[in-house]
Amino acid sequence: MKRFSPLKEHLEVALRRTMQAAVVGGLVLAAAVPIDSHAQAKVLNLYSARHYQTDEALYADFTKQTGIKINRIELGDEQLLQRLRTEGAASPADVVLLVDAARLWRAQVDGLFQPVQSKVLNERIPPNLRSNDGTWFGFSSRARVIVYDKARVKTEDVDTYEELADPKNKGKVCTRSGSHPYMLSLIGSLIERLGEAKTEEWARGMVANMARPPRGGDTDQIKGVASGECGVALTNSYYWVRLVRSADPKDQDVVSKVAFVWPNQATTGTHMNISGGGVAKNAPHKENAVAFLEYLTSPKAQAYFASGNNEWPVVKGAVSDNPALAALGTPKMENVPISTIGKNQIAAQRILDRVGYR
Ligand code: FE
Repeated sequence: MKRFSPLKEHLEVALRRTMQAAVVGGLVLAAAVPIDSHAQAKVLNLYSARHYQTDEALYADFTKQTGIKINRIELGDEQLLQRLRTEGAASPADVVLLVDAARLWRAQVDGLFQPVQSKVLNERIPPNLRSNDGTWFGFSSRARVIVYDKARVKTEDVDTYEELADPKNKGKVCTRSGSHPYMLSLIGSLIERLGEAKTEEWARGMVANMARPPRGGDTDQIKGVASGECGVALTNSYYWVRLVRSADPKDQDVVSKVAFVWPNQATTGTHMNISGGGVAKNAPHKENAVAFLEYLTSPKAQAYFASGNNEWPVVKGAVSDNPALAALGTPKMENVPISTIGKNQIAAQRILDRVGYR
């Protein structure tokens, strides 16, 4: 595996074409041509917004099984999407991996994926965890959960998303920016369950209850609870599990002061999201791309892919060896289709703008 640049790739493709023209009487001039966007090449160009050690083992195993080499570009989600838009039809990307349905949906409407017909993917990935048009698929899942200050907040006051906006939690609530995809997705699910008017009321209540203006990432919200600045906060589940598994005494101090709750267990269930991907619109190696996505649904790959970021496998029957994650138990999960949540984020953003939720 190695990183590559599109420029390098173009030069190498040009070189190979020149070399193909140099084939005389069946004699091929031997030379190393490491990257090839020719459709038959045993190569896969992977654009990934994931960067975990365990993913590397996964890629190596795929190459071992198939002989297909993986060239990888790792960028943040936003930069990755921007790069694909800029490259357009000349993009060497075969597979695109992103996190959160909000971003996958963005890539879908921007036309950055192409539809895939795969019996394996359709059978193994639950319909509520993939797009409605066959362009992207969830390969691991994460939950948006609530954490609170053990010392001054009672579980029963903060065990639903709805209650966070209740006046009883005034001055206690911390979140990251409302416009972040994790928040847009959660609000997208509220819109689906409660309708736009009630969701707007909720967002207004959240703003009124804030302990401080939204800032930082999810881990900062958990730390804000531990420091006493926040009474209650929202976070993706894996940030919590990461702190639980950390050997750093500072992280252990945070964990000792904070409690975790699965939201909405008595009602509609906890909001679930995904990390996933699809085949790039102009994939030079489409067959390899589909083979890679199918590989990600194998039991071994599922365990690795999910556990690398303390997430859950999506394929039924796949199990991961992650005791800290298992210790959280299995929540009742919300059953809003993940493709609907993506679509609702435009309405979600409008609501945020109206109520001043930054
Ligand atoms: Fe994250």
